[in-house]
Amino acid sequence: MHLSYGEVIETSTQRLRNLTQKGSTIVGYLYPHTPIELLMAHGLTPSLMRVNPSATAGFEDSLQTFSCSFTRNMYSQRANGELSSLSGVLFPGNTCDALQNVADVWRYRFPDDKILRVTYPATTQTEHAVDFLANELRILSENITETFGTSISATELSDAASLVNDFREIMQFLYAARVYDSNVISYTELVGMLRDFLTAPERGIVDDMEDRFRSVRQILEINGHLKSADLLKDGLLRRDLEKVVVPIPQDGPKIVIAGGMIEPQAIASLVNDLDGVSDSIIALDLLSFGYKTVFTPKTLIPPNQKGPKPIGSAPEPHYEGPFKAIARAILGAPLEPTQEGLSDRLAFLRQLFVKVGANGLVVCEQSFCDPDEFEAPSLEKAAEDVGIPSLRFPIDPELSDRGRLEGRLQTFLETIEDREVG
Ligand code: SF4
Repeated sequence: MHLSYGEVIETSTQRLRNLTQKGSTIVGYLYPHTPIELLMAHGLTPSLMRVNPSATAGFEDSLQTFSCSFTRNMYSQRANGELSSLSGVLFPGNTCDALQNVADVWRYRFPDDKILRVTYPATTQTEHAVDFLANELRILSENITETFGTSISATELSDAASLVNDFREIMQFLYAARVYDSNVISYTELVGMLRDFLTAPERGIVDDMEDRFRSVRQILEINGHLKSADLLKDGLLRRDLEKVVVPIPQDGPKIVIAGGMIEPQAIASLVNDLDGVSDSIIALDLLSFGYKTVFTPKTLIPPNQKGPKPIGSAPEPHYEGPFKAIARAILGAPLEPTQEGLSDRLAFLRQLFVKVGANGLVVCEQSFCDPDEFEAPSLEKAAEDVGIPSLRFPIDPELSDRGRLEGRLQTFLETIEDREVG
């Protein structure tokens, strides 16, 4: 029995309230590639803010006309007093105009709020970009100390990096596992675990994820897919799928969901509400709050070793300073539409469609999101290049046109099935 999307949101809101009551200082963030290890190393709890379908609008005049439905929803939540669990908000700079604008207006309209900002480089592939972002993170660390009075702790940084790395490693494998056997873990369960961690990262959550990770590995070992899933996980991380084995075709559609800052749990809820359809049709999502968050490389910070290093253990990797290590991991994540490198993204996408055995692509667009609208035609063209149909799927946080969205998705899935039969 799946929770409704409304119940999912209420559960995570309640969890934040409980943490606040226990004395946690929670800092919300909106951008998927946020240095959460750094916030945790200052004793803060980073929380990925989520859109709320029931947020009442009415504050649109405060924002620029180009603002997307995502930033409007966030701003409405703040104006309605719905973000009381948060002690501050971290905004990104130099990502998109809508985020820049909402941060500026937020600071102006709510001058008592504690606002942090980190500016991202437009390019990601150069050493200069790593240095730039590392310096931004150093400034962010100083601003956190000034704003919240908490200094960075080397021990907490090490523990936080280890927690985040464990989370990424487990989720990367589970994402890859579903491509070979989508029944081994449902998409709803997968993105539910992902969201639990991002709402408030805690060791207990990762321990539960690890249990699930072990059970999924066992099942794949029995059905002979373990090696293929491990190869796919590594290939997705390196963005080179040459050695990846294509899954055996199954009955029914296998779709890839592409798009930007769309909530994976909203997609899972929409798909599961279709007649006779379950989320097992989703081979993979490429969403910013899903795949692009998960397939971020490890943050290589020296472990918090207690006691002597074990004899004969593997040689240690090369460690950089903490800011540079976090910056390198962030810039190693799959690229966003707001970053350069579109042709590389598309080349990888064509390879990915074939290697995950997709026979349909759904391109989600956050309403009024310029980056999504800019990239969507290229994504459709990449699908066309490898002969799979695609569906452009505009969506807003309120799922305001839910009946029509479900109808379009259902028709698209039937079209894929007809093509496969024909
Ligand atoms: S949804 Fe699009 S326009 Fe809105 S904040 Fe995200 S990238 Fe920017």
